[in-house]
Amino acid sequence: MSSTRVLVLNSGSSSVKYQLLDMRDERRLATGLVERIGERVSRFRHTPLHGGGPRERTGPIADHEAALKMVAEELAADGLGLDSPELAAIGHRVVHGGKRFTAPTVIDDAVLAEIERLIPVAPLHNPANLAGIRTTLALRPDLPQVAVFDTAFHTTMPESAARYAIDVETADEHRIRRYGFHGTSHAYVSRMTAGLLGKDPSEVNVIVLHLGNGASASAVRGGKCVDTSMGLTPLEGLVMGTRSGDMDPAVIFHLMRVGGMSADEIDTLLNKRSGLIGLCGDNDMREIRRRIDGGDERARLAFDIYIHRLKKYIGAYYAVLGRVDAVAFTAGVGENAAPVREAAVAGLEGLGLAIDGELNAARGDGPRLVSPEHARVAVAVVPTDEELEIATQTYALVGKNS
Ligand code: AMP
Repeated sequence: MSSTRVLVLNSGSSSVKYQLLDMRDERRLATGLVERIGERVSRFRHTPLHGGGPRERTGPIADHEAALKMVAEELAADGLGLDSPELAAIGHRVVHGGKRFTAPTVIDDAVLAEIERLIPVAPLHNPANLAGIRTTLALRPDLPQVAVFDTAFHTTMPESAARYAIDVETADEHRIRRYGFHGTSHAYVSRMTAGLLGKDPSEVNVIVLHLGNGASASAVRGGKCVDTSMGLTPLEGLVMGTRSGDMDPAVIFHLMRVGGMSADEIDTLLNKRSGLIGLCGDNDMREIRRRIDGGDERARLAFDIYIHRLKKYIGAYYAVLGRVDAVAFTAGVGENAAPVREAAVAGLEGLGLAIDGELNAARGDGPRLVSPEHARVAVAVVPTDEELEIATQTYALVGKNS
């Protein structure tokens, strides 16, 4: 029997998302989500392709190990267990791969140790990713398991984009540089955008705007990332749902010296109580649009600040790339919020960017163009699919040999 299935695992700090795909036709055989791990009431929802609707459980789930054991049980109940000979590999999303991991990597002890060594630069994410990997390694030690890094796509950035202009020795000692995140999405969306234009990725320059609750932009030249907006951590760059994005770093010293805040308090402020939620109390773009329609000034200002930053990045990456073939919008806001796309591109006709109002307002599932025909720069909406990209990269690395 050939092994054509890949299980994709995304272990977050208090959640595990998973999808089992058959790579012959990229069909989802099962998907699921465990939420609020470690809290009093955890939630588990498992949806098999066959065998009825979603199955849900609530009750305490202590840690990632317990969560993944439940996932394995639910899969086994559908005849899709981890011991199935059809399972070719498990692909794990790993947030931080530092400088070393430039591509998906089969996990062994040395890889585990390196992911662990990177915990100081990804204190929230890498420990959760490691917990997921260790559990599935214990369950299936013989099965190839692959780490697919959020940072990998950005490792092609030149030093001029990756380095902060601070003392080189200090930066190197503490591994301070711009790593970038959401790389799996930027890789997938830039490639799909080239396909939408009927071109090979090596022939096109694309600005990708990944606008979800976290948000980042990237400049992709000929299929390779040359700049991205997130940096040492996912805090830099665009205005996000709850994160500030770019700011004068002296704001932090000011809050310490004058505001009497601790480093941890400022960390929480900038990561959890800033961005859209800090500006207007809501981080969901749907709610912000509703409030704007009702004449709410705070929501309007939050939206304007969000758009202003987005425009600055489009302009900056236009200059970085020199020639731009397409701007691609993706993720929750980018795929669904037509007013955000319209406002981000408004006034950029001088750069060859324009939106067709009707195309932009129309809903659609797949990748699509929303710019007028014959526009100098295509504007595209390209739904991201990080799970499929992780499965594709994992299968390309190990599947064909199994
Ligand atoms: P993501 O992180 O990619 O799952 O995106 C989540 C965000 O997408 C939410 O916080 C919303 O702000 C936004 N979003 C989802 N659906 C819509 C929609 N129909 N219109 C506007 N924003 C949306």
